[in-house]
Amino acid sequence: MATDTAGLVKILEAVAGKISENREFLTELDSAIGDADHGINMSKGFSAVLEKLHSQKIDDCGTILKTVGMTLVSTVGGASGPLYGTAFMKAGQAVAGKSSLDFEDFVTILDQALEGIKYRGKAQRGDKTIIDALEPAVEILRKEKDCTDKKAAMDKALNAAKEGVEYTRSIIAKKGRASYLGERSIGHQDPGATSCYLMLQAAIEKIKE
Ligand code: ADP
Ligand code: MG
Ligand code: MG
Repeated sequence: MATDTAGLVKILEAVAGKISENREFLTELDSAIGDADHGINMSKGFSAVLEKLHSQKIDDCGTILKTVGMTLVSTVGGASGPLYGTAFMKAGQAVAGKSSLDFEDFVTILDQALEGIKYRGKAQRGDKTIIDALEPAVEILRKEKDCTDKKAAMDKALNAAKEGVEYTRSIIAKKGRASYLGERSIGHQDPGATSCYLMLQAAIEKIKE
């Protein structure tokens, strides 16, 4: 289960495709507890990412991920741009100089993405954010780093992210725009946790192919 730079670009294309397919859905979720732009923000960012990646051939996985991060930071307005941007930049640093990635690198990438988002946004599990989807998945992958059945480990991680998204329905938002609503944010699924789950789903589906 290893991927070269062309494979990494394919994974990122799948992520971008998933975001674009869910543009309306993510925006709808954000209209309930935010300002109705999460799908718009994310698809705008990933369109720019694809344009950037297709305009040049980068022969280092770290630089590819760093480029994704920088593009998201510069094209996405709103909270999610700097957060996901930092995530990809941190992930890129962790695999700098590598021309191919294995399962362990995949775990490192998500681990560092989580650290980047936590550092940048100062949110914790239970604040109704991206972290509620990403951290449960990363925790499983950290434990399963040396496992033999890597596909099963990724499915388990994805399932944990899905449960995290469900959990965001039951809690009060403590960070971002949704926090202005206080208790009225209860009952609504968090847009950022949802986009995070969808990105993981697209990446994992592609890696398993
Ligand atoms: P904005 O709220 O600025 O319009 P988006 O709508 O694109 O930005 O993104 C909203 C999402 O960002 C939320 O659903 C939430 O998951 C995520 N988010 C907001 N603040 C934080 C934070 N401090 N840490 C992690 N995620 C956050
Ligand atoms: Mg918004
Ligand atoms: Mg906004």
